[in-house]
Amino acid sequence: MTKNIRYYSTNHNSELVSFKEALIRGQAPDKGLYMPDTIPEISSDIITSMKDMPYHEIAFTVTNEFLREEIAEDELRRITKEVYDYDVPLEHVSGKKYVMRLDQGPTASFKDFAARMMAKLMHYYTKDENKKLTILTATSGDTGSAVANAFYDLDDIRMVVLFPYKEVSERQRKQMTTLGGNITAVAVDGKFDDCQAMVKQAFSDPELEPLNLSSANSINFGRLLPQTVYYFYAYSKLREKENEKVIFSVPSGNFGDLMGGLISKKMGVPVYKFIAATNENDEFPRFLKSGKYVPLKPSKDCISNAMNVGHPSNLARLIDLYGGQMDEKGKINKMPDIDAIRKDIFSISISDEEARATIKDAYNKYGMILEPHGAVGWAGLENFLAQTKNPTLSVSLETAHPAKFPEELEKILNIKPELPRSMKDLENKEETFEEISADYKKLKEFLTSLDNR
Ligand SMILES: *Cc1c(COP(=O)(O)O)cnc(C)c1O
Repeated sequence: MTKNIRYYSTNHNSELVSFKEALIRGQAPDKGLYMPDTIPEISSDIITSMKDMPYHEIAFTVTNEFLREEIAEDELRRITKEVYDYDVPLEHVSGKKYVMRLDQGPTASFKDFAARMMAKLMHYYTKDENKKLTILTATSGDTGSAVANAFYDLDDIRMVVLFPYKEVSERQRKQMTTLGGNITAVAVDGKFDDCQAMVKQAFSDPELEPLNLSSANSINFGRLLPQTVYYFYAYSKLREKENEKVIFSVPSGNFGDLMGGLISKKMGVPVYKFIAATNENDEFPRFLKSGKYVPLKPSKDCISNAMNVGHPSNLARLIDLYGGQMDEKGKINKMPDIDAIRKDIFSISISDEEARATIKDAYNKYGMILEPHGAVGWAGLENFLAQTKNPTLSVSLETAHPAKFPEELEKILNIKPELPRSMKDLENKEETFEEISADYKKLKEFLTSLDNR
């Protein structure tokens, strides 16, 4: 491979850019999402050899296929080693069924995998340029804490995270407000939508240009790329024979996790089927059934709250991968090959009631503790396996730590899952944050005063 991979916009109205550019910009100027113009392949021999590699080495091997023309090998090795310093348990459930726990990172959700890598990659590019970057992000909970943790302590980057004061849990708030240093948390007296609107306005405000604002949201290709890695990891560790196929069940909201899986399949992981399991926000399973895409507005509030999405932001990428075109509003201008999508993906919506029953059932049957997001994935897998004659190696993704949902688990199972160490420490830490009203002028005042603090 000598060809440089370039990144185009799914709206096809922006120039091709390098990985660096796609990473710093986040979104393409025409409001599309960046996609690689080539998806590199990894040979089955290399996939076989991953069986003996630690996670961080698999991460290096996979991401280097995209980055080798842009980042020096030893730097990428250093970054992956630093970022992936925690376990990725593959828990055997029964027969050929497994659960992959992506919840051992510092904020105990799978978002750590992507956020940490993206932050280090951004830092790699800014540290030599003597340029201070300001990451401005709005969050409804999990993303903000993962991203804040990921950018913590990186010099030349500061981060401002806006959250709706009354809509985040105490634990989520503490994950953002106890870091300090280069992380500034801002509590907004309003809703998540207000925070997001204020952030959007800041990005289009020319007077804030000196701040070098950058976003760190889920549409950044730098966040997608690390989400291809654990599919290679699970497959190479669990397969018993050459070319055995695998089923992955992915609890999905904005479909970034699933996109990582679809790319890993193009790269060479022999996936028999992806299960795209959603909660009651069922616009995607309905789309696969009917061929008509209708976003859900407003989205439904379900117990798997990180998946309460009525129009998944990564859908434009998925449609693009199958030859179609969807604009930023969710309008499909060119139909993708929907039969090919149906062949690769089985999609199902799981109600809150079913998710709760699944948590109970999995515990009684297998002694396995799932939280609401992982339960949606597991229910999706069980549902698919019940209707296929082709049971094969199956891996369901558990995307958050059960201890993040103490009320729900106590109600359903009458147990209190133990907090991971990173979260135990939170209780005694001191919080600092700013409070502002949901008024763009206030945010602007605050941002322009940052340098004088
Ligand atoms: C964000 C999130 C999801 C959904 O992932 P997407 O990439 O948005 O589909 C699932 N579970 C948890 C715990 C999450 O935080």
